[in-house]
Amino acid sequence: MPTAQSRPRDAALDAAAADSRALRAALGETGSWRAQAEALARELVQATLDSRAPLFEVQRAFAIFPPGSPAGESLFRLAEALPRIPDRPSRIAMLADRVPALRGWRAAAALPLAGVAMDAIGRQFVYAETIAKALRRAERDACARPARRFSFDMLGEGARTDADADRNFRRTMDAIRVMGQAVSAHEAIWRERLEVSVKLSSIHPRYDAASRARVRGELLDRLKQISGRAAAVGIGLTIDAEESERLSLQLELFEALAADPALDRWGELGLAVQAYQPRALETVDALLEIARRRRKRGGMPIAVRLVKGAYWDAEVKRAQELGLERYPVFTDKRLTDLSYLACARRLSAGPDSVHPQFATHNPVTLACVLALAGQSGAATAPARFECQRLHGMGGALYRTLAATHPDLQVRTYAPVGEKRELLAYLVRRLLENSASTSYVRQAARAKRSDDLLRTGFEFLDAGVCPRDLPSPTELHMPQRRIAKGYDLGDSATLPAWAKSVNEARRKWTAGSLVSGECQAGPARPVASPARPDVTIGEVSDATPELARSAIDSAHAARIAWSAVSVPERAAALERMADLLEADMAGLMALCVWEAGKTLPDAMADVREAADFCRYYAQQARERLGTPMALPGPVGESNVLTLHGRGVFACISPWNFPVAIFTGQVAAALVAGNTVVAKPAEQTPLTAYRIAELVLKAGIPPGVFHLLPGDGGIGRALVADTRIAGVAFTGSTVTARAIQGVLAEREGPIVPLIAETGGLNAMIVDSTALPEQVVDAVVASAFRSAGQRCSSLRVLYLQEEIAPVVLDMLRGAMAALRIGDPADPATDIGPVIDGQARETLAEYISVLRSRAKLIAESGPVPPAGTYVAPVAFEIGSIREIPGERFGPILHVVRFALDDLDRVIDEIKATEYGLTMGVHTRVDSRAEHIRARSAVGNFYVNRNMIGAVVGVQPFGGEGLSGTGPKAGGPNYLVRFTTERVFTVNTAAAGGDLGLLTGTADAAT
Ligand SMILES: Cc1cc2nc3c(=O)[nH]c(=O)nc-3n(C[C@H](O)[C@H](O)[C@H](O)COP(=O)(O)OP(=O)(O)OC[C@H]3O[C@@H](n4cnc5c(N)ncnc54)[C@H](O)[C@@H]3O)c2cc1C
Repeated sequence: MPTAQSRPRDAALDAAAADSRALRAALGETGSWRAQAEALARELVQATLDSRAPLFEVQRAFAIFPPGSPAGESLFRLAEALPRIPDRPSRIAMLADRVPALRGWRAAAALPLAGVAMDAIGRQFVYAETIAKALRRAERDACARPARRFSFDMLGEGARTDADADRNFRRTMDAIRVMGQAVSAHEAIWRERLEVSVKLSSIHPRYDAASRARVRGELLDRLKQISGRAAAVGIGLTIDAEESERLSLQLELFEALAADPALDRWGELGLAVQAYQPRALETVDALLEIARRRRKRGGMPIAVRLVKGAYWDAEVKRAQELGLERYPVFTDKRLTDLSYLACARRLSAGPDSVHPQFATHNPVTLACVLALAGQSGAATAPARFECQRLHGMGGALYRTLAATHPDLQVRTYAPVGEKRELLAYLVRRLLENSASTSYVRQAARAKRSDDLLRTGFEFLDAGVCPRDLPSPTELHMPQRRIAKGYDLGDSATLPAWAKSVNEARRKWTAGSLVSGECQAGPARPVASPARPDVTIGEVSDATPELARSAIDSAHAARIAWSAVSVPERAAALERMADLLEADMAGLMALCVWEAGKTLPDAMADVREAADFCRYYAQQARERLGTPMALPGPVGESNVLTLHGRGVFACISPWNFPVAIFTGQVAAALVAGNTVVAKPAEQTPLTAYRIAELVLKAGIPPGVFHLLPGDGGIGRALVADTRIAGVAFTGSTVTARAIQGVLAEREGPIVPLIAETGGLNAMIVDSTALPEQVVDAVVASAFRSAGQRCSSLRVLYLQEEIAPVVLDMLRGAMAALRIGDPADPATDIGPVIDGQARETLAEYISVLRSRAKLIAESGPVPPAGTYVAPVAFEIGSIREIPGERFGPILHVVRFALDDLDRVIDEIKATEYGLTMGVHTRVDSRAEHIRARSAVGNFYVNRNMIGAVVGVQPFGGEGLSGTGPKAGGPNYLVRFTTERVFTVNTAAAGGDLGLLTGTADAAT
């Protein structure tokens, strides 16, 4: 293993080294300008260190309240939450939570003071509350320093609903109108000095790859309207850069705008490019080409704002979660800096067609850019480029620069809006783009400018070996690799996968696999839930005779399989994982057509299966392979060993037809059991394909058998006394039935590992951020059409925040698209079959008569077993008759005083699977956790998608027996323990003791 494991890590380093070489080549020689850059940087760095900036200027605030320190964390978390919390008790709780000295009455007394502090922070981040006030303030600032230019940003969080997007769009259009009036009233001050910055995610609720058609239609239309008005009144527009998966869409839209001849005479159209993306240079080249084409037809240059990128942490996290082959951002800060300069040089090479804008607060970067520009002649035409800073940052730096470079054009990016609305967003962004490697953080810590300069210029030194994070799939190395994934959020990747999955579709067949042979028999057609009229394959179900012969064979093979060494069994699982990954498209096709899963859900299902295999292989090596020596008296040796129990029955559901089926089988096999697997009646085709892979991975034909069929086959299996254990995932009712059959059986008493359902609740208090809540609720309640054991069923909302959240939820539900799961634009596919749809429809009609309808998505396609996501308000979880496996959300409002009653009534259902909490008050989250009894508890995120080995999954009470799937205790339950004791003193005393080498305690 070590060689196989070390290779990929080297590959990550190789990739970083290759990036470094390519960027260096693009930057070219540095000798002619480096000395000048170093001299300027020295001056600028010293100025930032000596600065007497206001208390909440970011660098100073970071020096006094370092992020990561208790004081820093408290300050920034209070700033993020306190101003928007609607009720006084929660404001007091939040304050007491963050500042331990303010427990009890002191927090209430200190609240007004905290309000004043938050207001001061707000002023530092938010330029003004309205565009009119912003212009008045800007006029004062511009008069004081005539070179000042402004980019106003009116929008914070991305839009979740059409209503949000409409409002943001109108706000932008209004702002441009007001700014236009300012330009005509005070041309001398404002001509060519004002622009708006727009985040496209703010003016359309679906700025994503899956909605490409809408983006190209509606969003482009909005952009054209904004551009048209801005051009007409002499205002600039810069399209902000957002998450990396949006880059292709952003470029597509920008290209369309730049190609519009109606906008050709407008020289203030621009967009931001992030240097931290390995695609940055390529992006700059694409923009230069767009700009050249525009110029060629007589159009004006375009503006390009070069930034490093504000989403670094989020990008790294997302890439790790998705198991991407490489990060979409550099992971060595020095590569980002190098990329920034290489892009700056490239931009300077197109002086007639682009207007570069260098946005940074890093004095070293600035000094290099200025030296580079001077060398390339651009400094002789300072109007050709400008530098940019964020309001509240880089004040001292740019004041010093104003003295050394009086002609330099500087623009301030200034957020405008209500502090209550904007501050949370700005503080989160600030902390995110102020990683410990960032200049403002380092300068806040630094005592001497020499250290800052030395590390600041390191990136220019050839031969510096790039540091790198392990690549996303190598996170858990050397123990195991994470399953490979692909970014379906990317507008180039998504259609490619849709195509591969479509091409992998064929007429599938399945039957019983007994002793490696597919058993012929009468076949029944299998239809797709999306199109019940279309047959996608056929299956020949097992018979009781086949079940018997499968058990015969498995029983005969059990002793030999248990004797196979653990490393050999583990290696088979690892081969299985590789095979699953290699057949990703084929398995996804089965998930899509047989189980109605959307493309992202299908990919996640296959990845989880591969993760189960590698995780159980690792666990087996660590926990089953080596006998455990037990402490005891001298003269005796005691050893505990774990063995397969015999034949395991694995009975799995249809909702994760790849992952749960594979997970149960893999665990049972690696623990030394032979297996007879019965998949859900609805998904035999998928199970059959996996069974083929199990055999291909090298599991002997006698060791693993597949029996597709209905509950009757399951019952026959469980009733056979040779079955030595049952792993079951499904409903609580069926688990009880299995338990009953096992109890009635003659012969040995055997374990039942049951994972069942839940009445999963999420508690949201008034300190939560509504946008995060709505994202989490929509994903948890409706993704996979609500057909996950972990799906959210009951949302408890604190009454003060309920109206806002429900309004947003209505909008977000209206934006959901229900339809063909093979279509990349689909959010919600069908439920599994006609019977499921009927049961859900009946329940919904009961709710319609008894509860208050909050929202219902739609429309649904006419064919197919679709159920539109729906939300109803009810009085309590007690009114719910039991788990309803579909996209039905119940909402309950609660008063904060009743929190304990709420927790207790959730607990009283006796289900204990998942629970979510959204709050900024840590002690409250902890209180809820301590008073609840659930298997998986999530804070400030969605409550689905548990990750193997990271969030072992499974519940308690009515929700299952445990141990948790994908957890460290799972395998042991599939084994039997044996202890081997030898009286070593029997033949004449303990040798170790006699020779004095024994450890007396053991
Ligand atoms: C006027 C203005 C407009 C902006 N507009 C946008 C925008 O539209 N979109 C956007 O995304 N950002 C935007 N930003 C933010 C910008 O991307 C940077 O986050 C911020 O300016 C910090 O970069 P710096 O050069 O000032 O500081 P530095 O301290 O030199 O750089 C910090 C940056 O380096 C990168 N980084 C940190 N750690 C690592 C690491 N380990 N490996 C690789 N890279 C790392 C990150 O990008 C981080 O933000 C804007 C900034 C300004 C000033």
